[in-house]
Amino acid sequence: MPKMFKKKDAEEKALKPRRGKFVSRLRGMKDILPDEYKYWNLVIKKATELSKAYGFRRIDTPTLEALELYERSSGRGSDIVAKEMFSFVDKNGDKIALRPEATPGIVRAYIEHGMFNLPQPVKLLWLGPVFRHDKPQAGRFRQFSQYNLENIGEASPVADAELIAIAYYFFRELQLDVMTQINSIGCANCRKDYLVKLEDFYKERGRRSKLCNDCKKRLAKNPLRLLDCKEKQCQELAGDAPQIVDSLCEDCRNHFIKVLEYLDELDIPYNLNPTLVRGLDYYNRTVFEIWPAFAESQAGKPADAEAAGKVEPPRQNALGGGGRYDGLVEYMGGRETPACGFGIGIERVILKIKEKNIPLRDEEKGDVFLAQLGDQAKRKIMKLFEELRKAGLNVRQAFSKDSLKSQLEAANKMGVKYTLILGQKEVMDGTILIRDMESGIQEIVDYKKIMGELEKRLDNGK
Ligand SMILES: [Zn+2]
Ligand SMILES: [Zn+2]
Repeated sequence: MPKMFKKKDAEEKALKPRRGKFVSRLRGMKDILPDEYKYWNLVIKKATELSKAYGFRRIDTPTLEALELYERSSGRGSDIVAKEMFSFVDKNGDKIALRPEATPGIVRAYIEHGMFNLPQPVKLLWLGPVFRHDKPQAGRFRQFSQYNLENIGEASPVADAELIAIAYYFFRELQLDVMTQINSIGCANCRKDYLVKLEDFYKERGRRSKLCNDCKKRLAKNPLRLLDCKEKQCQELAGDAPQIVDSLCEDCRNHFIKVLEYLDELDIPYNLNPTLVRGLDYYNRTVFEIWPAFAESQAGKPADAEAAGKVEPPRQNALGGGGRYDGLVEYMGGRETPACGFGIGIERVILKIKEKNIPLRDEEKGDVFLAQLGDQAKRKIMKLFEELRKAGLNVRQAFSKDSLKSQLEAANKMGVKYTLILGQKEVMDGTILIRDMESGIQEIVDYKKIMGELEKRLDNGK
């Protein structure tokens, strides 16, 4: 190769920026790409509309909170706090955590902003991401989003039933078949007696040796958690364990019966699940989870109450859950306040919607596309685009393209009904072409009358 070429190559190389090292996203984290957003919009719209109808008002809380907030509320022994929290010390030496769940932050806000002075209950809707340093697996991410409702200040079982009903309607209206699992874990008083019975049960005749290692440790600290262990051998034992509903005090039993009566009245199917306890310290009385219904996988038949009680595979696939937390507000420094709430995992809901292939309206589709040929036409049509958009028309464009062919291709992709075409000739004549994208028929119309012509055609098409 001649010397001078070599030198030129080297010069060009020096001018070109070097390709940098690629940094990928963090493990267990997920991007939401534009094609997926139609699912998010659907789910968030449903959650927002439904919650609004039941009197819930939206609240947001910061992503970062003091680590202590979660240690106090969720409980140091809970999996969330002990194993799964993203926490760190910031530049001031303060211990900080990325929120692993929504409820503690919402309760903190309730106390901090004096919401106990408002008419009670305070009903709050919350949508946002939470963070858990969990083992990443299918459908589970380290950052995921939740739809939460919290009803703070209402002791009546109506509040519990209302939450369960809303969760049920949410899934039904998204065409997902679910079965609500429900249990009562009583109050501090009646649970004390039950825990003694439970410990006695597990200590009997070598049952302890059959437990998984985690449960052996839990037996001393938090025996209730043995009931919802995911290990098979522990689940078998839990099936024979004494049931907490048999140990409820009178108040707790009456509360639970009332909740079930309301659900019966509303025709909301549920499965009484004696091993459901939820993994957080703050729950009392009603606890519930929403599981995908078993019958759903059988040729899309609607779930009948019996078949749907059985689900596969079990609780790690819960789509959401919640319960009553009457002690939490006071425990976190507020007044004595009854409360209940739920959280639903948005990614899991979206996964289910995708599995069912529910057809969704493509929100990116427009009604009218504006095409141009030549510089003068381009400038004129950019102005027209803005006028049509402001008038409320669903307009689309590809102004960076010059050829009519590629613009019509783009228009087809966007599914528009009509394309307006403005060329040099039309600019001179004060006209514009309207092309019906289905028939391909083009009409010349007066440029000044374009708005009326479009409205007439779009109205007819409805
Ligand atoms: Zn009780
Ligand atoms: Zn276990």
